[in-house]
Amino acid sequence: MASAEPLPSSLSVSPHLQLKAQLFPAEPIPFQAGIYLGIPELGKLLLMDSSDLVQSALNARTQAYAPYSRFQVGAALLTKSGAIVPGANLENASYGLTICAERAAVGNAIVAGHRDFLAIAVASETGVTPCGACRQVLHEFAPNLTVYCADTRGSVIKTSLERLLPDSFGARDLEG
Ligand SMILES: [Zn+2]
Repeated sequence: MASAEPLPSSLSVSPHLQLKAQLFPAEPIPFQAGIYLGIPELGKLLLMDSSDLVQSALNARTQAYAPYSRFQVGAALLTKSGAIVPGANLENASYGLTICAERAAVGNAIVAGHRDFLAIAVASETGVTPCGACRQVLHEFAPNLTVYCADTRGSVIKTSLERLLPDSFGARDLEG
């Protein structure tokens, strides 16, 4: 470490919210308590409370356009660089054109220049997991993604894309 310069207690990494950060803790913290981030620009290892990601998904859910199903879903993708990118479901009168929150978040992230993802939080009234289409789209960029599924009563489950999409199909399967 270059100097004893203190790391700010709060580091702004996203226009959408503040990322709580601290030096890699001397005291062990249960893995479930947070997500470890390598921030190359700082040369330090940061810890983000996973509840920040979940809260971002809950916030995104309030922006959902779901007049037909009335099932609002929000998502928040955590990028390797520490940014959090939101998405919400977007329905259409032609039902088949509906876009899920997870895929909306992926689209938002890609167009903003992010392609490496560590985790996604998905927020809905009942805490659903991503649908099959979204699992496949997430796998394209992040086969090892951590997935948090939150309901609106405060329950969160933590799982992984590996568990949600076993025996997956990906780019490697197109290689001869
Ligand atoms: Zn979906």
